[in-house]
Amino acid sequence: MKDRPMSTAEPRAASEPMFLTAPKKLLIGGDWVDAASGRTFATVNPSNGRVLTELPLGDVDDIARAVGAARRAFEGPWSGFKPYDRQRLLLTLADLVEANYDELSLLDTLDMGAPITRTLAMKGRTVGRLRFYAGLATAIHGETISNSQPGDLFSYTHKEPVGVVGAIIPWNGPISAAVWKIGPALATGCTVVMKPAEEASLSTLRLGELLLEAGTPEGVVNIVTGYGEGAGAALTANPDVDKIAFTGSHFTGQKIVQASAGNLKRISLELGGKSPNVVFSDADMDAAVPGAAMAVFSNSGQICSAGTRLFVERTIHDEFVERVRAFSEKLRLGDGSDPDTQIGPLVSSQQMQRVSHYLDAGKEDGARTVLGGKRVNSGALAGGFFIPPTIFDGVEDDMRICREEIFGPVMSVVTFDGEDEAVKRANDTMFGLAAGVWTRNVGRAHRMAARIKAGTVWINCYHALDPAVPFGGNKMSGYGRESGADHLNEFLNVKAVWMSTK
Ligand code: NAD
Repeated sequence: MKDRPMSTAEPRAASEPMFLTAPKKLLIGGDWVDAASGRTFATVNPSNGRVLTELPLGDVDDIARAVGAARRAFEGPWSGFKPYDRQRLLLTLADLVEANYDELSLLDTLDMGAPITRTLAMKGRTVGRLRFYAGLATAIHGETISNSQPGDLFSYTHKEPVGVVGAIIPWNGPISAAVWKIGPALATGCTVVMKPAEEASLSTLRLGELLLEAGTPEGVVNIVTGYGEGAGAALTANPDVDKIAFTGSHFTGQKIVQASAGNLKRISLELGGKSPNVVFSDADMDAAVPGAAMAVFSNSGQICSAGTRLFVERTIHDEFVERVRAFSEKLRLGDGSDPDTQIGPLVSSQQMQRVSHYLDAGKEDGARTVLGGKRVNSGALAGGFFIPPTIFDGVEDDMRICREEIFGPVMSVVTFDGEDEAVKRANDTMFGLAAGVWTRNVGRAHRMAARIKAGTVWINCYHALDPAVPFGGNKMSGYGRESGADHLNEFLNVKAVWMSTK
């Protein structure tokens, strides 16, 4: 999913942040440095296809330097930082992110195309995450455990940071994804080598500046930009990395599991989905119609938990699909930086081609196109990577558009009769990330929540998230949970201590 154009950056528009014009470097050991190879790669604005700037092409040598710096920091003064010190660092970072959020959100919008209203709306969640993890930093504790062994033996547990964490993130919510890894790592006393996605690294580099400004000791957070098969694979295979915290596709998740076998790293995997969104005939239609549309079309469908399989009960099918179509056709497609835009472009031409392939597959497999269905490339949208909200009706469970993660604005409508059929077909997927249920029947809502196999079930709402509520998947959607009090355990080892009190 990468663009690798050969052209160089173009002159800046007045609306673009100054950060874009400064040369970009890697953050290693507290210093901004060039990639060892001296090579760079371009990052592109998907709203118009133009190159924004060049980034250092980090590779295996840079990863080795960054991991070395992270190891030295882990064993150096950082290990003496008390929970209270780590809490204060995170709170300072949260204040800086909050103060600079307009710039961070614009960088994400320019880099990956999401509407500026959307990236701005992520402010509370992003800053809130840092403050949530700051709170947890002083709440890490072991237990005293009564044991049944003979003699006078006292036993307790103690929690220790895992060590050097390789954090690999995707492009679909860059600044939010970056703090989702850095927050728990700093709260627990780990050190980090972060590899942002090649499609959208700018806000993570700006976050690096804010981390230094906040007083993060050298080497505690290192940032290496580059490609997945280069820097990403090198980070996963590096024997001095103790844990990989990964968010991305299940294809890459599988590679990470294999590549990290050498030193049996701890791994947490936040992967993709094909989430069912089930609308019963007793649903509140006025809420369910926009709920069903935005479950898929928010962020142009580039959300892991997007409710892409819309299950509609047969008795309301025609009316409901028509109302979703009417709502969705009014969504305004446009340049991400335009405040009136509701649907931005896809992140790259490669992603647009990938989604176009699924549009063809839907038609070939016999689904009926109700809305959209082909690229828009004219007028103000010429040159951008735009696919409009697309609705396929008459979708069968074995069609490719019903089985595979598309990661684009494509809704597959499936018709069902009754609760049992809805559960059976909703669960007929290799993924298990999220699901939605729309009904006024409280008993049915709880039955569905219990029977659907997914890490999150939303009832009469969709895409709700909070730092205090766990998020993550089952099956091919990965393992481990982010957010919630238990998240820190992904970054901690438990040590048991026995002592004879005789
Ligand atoms: P991707 O797997 O292609 O890339 C994600 C990251 O992994 C990037 O930084 C990339 O450079 C890196 N990478 C690629 N190949 C690698 C390798 N061999 N070794 C190590 N790192 C490698 O995914 P993407 O296209 O950037 O993001 C979209 C995917 O992410 C979708 O499947 C989506 O569902 C998933 N996602 C999941 C969540 C979640 O919380 N569950 C959140 C956002 C996105």
